Amino acid sequence: MSIALDLARASYRGISLYSPDRTPCAIDLSDNTNLWGVPPGAARAVREAFASSITRYPPLYATALKEALAGYLGVPGDMIVTGCGSDDVLDSAIRAFAEPGDMIAFPDPSFAMIPIFARMNGLETAPIPLEDGRDIDADAMLATQARIIYLCSPNNPTSTALDISAIERIVERAPGLVILDEAYAEFATRNGLSLLERSERLLITRTMSKAFGLAGLRIGYAAGAPALVAEVEKSRGPYKVNALAERAAMTALGEDLPWVRDRVAELQANRARLAAELTALGLEPMESSANFCFVPTSRADELARGLRTGGIAVRPFTDLPSSIARFHDTSGAALRITVGPWEMMEPLLDVLATLTGIRR
Ligand SMILES: *Cc1c(COP(=O)(O)O)cnc(C)c1O
Repeated sequence: MSIALDLARASYRGISLYSPDRTPCAIDLSDNTNLWGVPPGAARAVREAFASSITRYPPLYATALKEALAGYLGVPGDMIVTGCGSDDVLDSAIRAFAEPGDMIAFPDPSFAMIPIFARMNGLETAPIPLEDGRDIDADAMLATQARIIYLCSPNNPTSTALDISAIERIVERAPGLVILDEAYAEFATRNGLSLLERSERLLITRTMSKAFGLAGLRIGYAAGAPALVAEVEKSRGPYKVNALAERAAMTALGEDLPWVRDRVAELQANRARLAAELTALGLEPMESSANFCFVPTSRADELARGLRTGGIAVRPFTDLPSSIARFHDTSGAALRITVGPWEMMEPLLDVLATLTGIRR
């Protein structure tokens, strides 16, 4: 064994780097970012901040940004914690609320980073198959007695919103922390914010990477009881939101909000239209509450490769739990396609029509 491997934590030996295919592509529909681009005010704020503020450290714990985010969600400022993307907030929360050896339970399939963060923090994992591919099995999750239960709604990659009563049931009965990842809340018709009033064990994570178009600046946050978010902040550490990100986020939450809301409305219209067109091509997208369509199909790999050749990137999945009927029928394969401006959806549909041999 090499010296470096010998020096490293034993529990890190099986961890590999997160490596989805990020080869540049003319039309990239693979990572669920905002395909309309950066909100105009935020773009200007970054240029101005670049000129004035990057020789100094940013605010320690992003106090002004927390106030702006609190205003956006309609909660008090002391209920917010920020981070370098919601990935950082999730990782920090896992570290703050579980000791190595404790267990984290999560739906399967769900956000691919969770098992990675679990291993980075020495946790045992309990993946619980999504019932019929779209709803969580609340009792199976509770039966794990896990120290942390992670839920994601709308769920990535399935695009479906979880049943709110199942979420409530878990929040009421869980023995430990419940994380509700709402990275795609802006695209859905409901969210779990009202549950915060009823539970001090619930942490809702959000991001500015999806609806707000700022993925490259890495801004995430969470809302929860003040004592809960204070623990996340301890494990997160100071200076995690950089000065450019802070300025862009503040502007995006202020003057850019109408722009963001208009793009979300356009996305929702395009999502319905795309789902109808995919169905006409013989595909079966699941009902989406997010900014992407999820299409279980045994031809996922072949279609993704064909689209790539046509200059379009989508995200193929191949190992979905085949205990779930929806994925059993497709040998565990599916495509995830980010919804964008309609000019990007047309070439996608044209190539898919060629690949499926069905005329549009
Ligand atoms: C994209 C995504 C995130 C990560 O967002 P960042 O804020 O960019 O780190 C978190 N959760 C889910 C489910 C996501 O899809």
